Amino acid sequence: MFTGETCLNRVKPDTREAKTKGESKRGNREVKTDCIFCQIVAGKVPSEIIYQDEAVIAFRDINPQAPTHLVIIPKRHIPSLAQLTEAESSLVGHMVSTANQLAKREGIAESGYRLVINCGKEGGQLVPHLHLHLLGGRKLSDKLD
Ligand code: 5GP
Ligand code: ZN
Repeated sequence: MFTGETCLNRVKPDTREAKTKGESKRGNREVKTDCIFCQIVAGKVPSEIIYQDEAVIAFRDINPQAPTHLVIIPKRHIPSLAQLTEAESSLVGHMVSTANQLAKREGIAESGYRLVINCGKEGGQLVPHLHLHLLGGRKLSDKLD
């Protein structure tokens, strides 16, 4: 856990949480019961969770494209970067800060890593819940020696 590290304290917990039949609300965002990442957040689909705080959760990708392949997601359901409101934009900074800390923990901070957010169909987004990929542990570009 990174509790106590400054970059992980920027996003305040959302205190407005109410449960209704089959779904719950975090702020004005629904937790979608048909969303695989919401199901991971809810603990209904197993995953290797390696970090979580009030706002985000990070787990290992089920189909890793590199020795380290983590997915960092907001706990609340935001379909994609395109649906991010200005009020929610600090969340992306928090996701990036979390990825930077996890890169250190994974031992790839020095060698280098790649952060990717796919957005929409042609952007290669398959899971419609905003997420940040953290990839590293191998050479990710052919342009390198
Ligand atoms: P996208 O293409 O939407 O940017 O990436 C979605 C990622 O989520 C993919 O890399 C895929 O392997 C990963 N993924 C999809 N379903 C699951 C799951 O149930 N568990 C985990 N851990 N990863 C998943
Ligand atoms: Zn979701």
